[in-house]
Amino acid sequence: MSAAISAQAPEEHSHLYPSFRRADVAFTHGDGSWLHGTDGIRYLDFATGIAVTGLGHSHSELIDVLYRQGARLWHVSNAVLIPEQEELARLLCRHTFADRVFFCNSGAEAVEAAIKTARRFQFVSGAPERYRIVTMEGAFHGRTLATVAAGGRDKYLEGFGPPSPGFDVVPFADIDAVEAVCGAETAAILVEPIQGESGVRRLSSEELARLRAICDERKLLLIFDEVQTGIGRTGRLFAYQDADVRPDILAAAKGLGNGFPVAACLATEAAAAGMTPGTHGSTFGGNPLAMAVAQKVVEIIANDVFLQNVRCRSDRLFAGLNKLVVTYPDVFTEVRGQGFLIGIRCGAPVDVVALSARANGLLTVLAGDNVMRLLPPLNLTDTEIDEGLARLGKVGQALTLASEMPSIMENADV
Ligand code: PLP
Repeated sequence: MSAAISAQAPEEHSHLYPSFRRADVAFTHGDGSWLHGTDGIRYLDFATGIAVTGLGHSHSELIDVLYRQGARLWHVSNAVLIPEQEELARLLCRHTFADRVFFCNSGAEAVEAAIKTARRFQFVSGAPERYRIVTMEGAFHGRTLATVAAGGRDKYLEGFGPPSPGFDVVPFADIDAVEAVCGAETAAILVEPIQGESGVRRLSSEELARLRAICDERKLLLIFDEVQTGIGRTGRLFAYQDADVRPDILAAAKGLGNGFPVAACLATEAAAAGMTPGTHGSTFGGNPLAMAVAQKVVEIIANDVFLQNVRCRSDRLFAGLNKLVVTYPDVFTEVRGQGFLIGIRCGAPVDVVALSARANGLLTVLAGDNVMRLLPPLNLTDTEIDEGLARLGKVGQALTLASEMPSIMENADV
């Protein structure tokens, strides 16, 4: 670990695309729920690389499997049999609705695979005119041309030419609007059970069940984007399992490799019927190194005791956060979400709150609707939860004081 890595990021010294708005902080190494900054500060990591390192940093079993597989075999092409893929696919299917799995490398690719699977299903079912996908406003499905079109947000579409056709975006949670927009060309409905980016907004079990019913009535496929909600994040392996509404196709990524880039598109046998040889592919997708790491992740998380613990610890964190809302109503106004996909709606500007959290050694993630996301590791301890709450308490205190004395706010060391 080089202590020489610094948080320098002035644009004139960088050869990187300036497409990220980066915080002025860098890390030398991670250790469980903690990240060690180049500034010498030890940060409690409630960001987990945006819902990725669900088992924390430097997990010994993951390091072990990475080293062992790394010494054995990293990559072979998908032109040959890959037993490690078969094993992970079997494991995922055993724990979910799915019968078939396609492995790829990122969330957007998993969603692309889901869209292609749905369109091909309609094509081979004798309805090639059915290609349109209904999505919801506020969704985030990735940054490829098709997935930004699926999300339908102007800020991600601007300047990239005509949006990829075939997406109908309806208002969030407006199931009547979904029903109204579905027509003779509709192939599928694509939603996140809980929208992360737009501010941790959840579709209720009833709303998901209505979407399932619409799909069944009209021979559409139901696709859940569980890139963020999946792999234990909500206290179940996948969020749909809590709502008990089964999709036909599901996209998973983020937590699947705990930071090793790997993603998956899961489907029922029927839904995957059109994905015949040559219809889709990936050079890196499902290579033995990624499979070994992801298999270990799933083995650890798809365990009743582990998931029960996530739900218990989440209850503890929610209880503490709700107290903070009562104590500091000008700073924190509402807590929402499920498991460890938590949004705190803020009374003060969310970037000020998140900056204050960082100044107090707590890393968080911004979302829409003035919401600060808390995405802690799934295996953090009660002591770490209490530490996180104490740090947020300091944020509440500092910003309440600052709002009472605006002159302090102007010079606030948030
Ligand atoms: N879908 C959802 C729900 C996401 O949250 C994200 C990323 O934040 C994506 C898709 C895209 O994933 P990736 O950035 O790995 O392409």
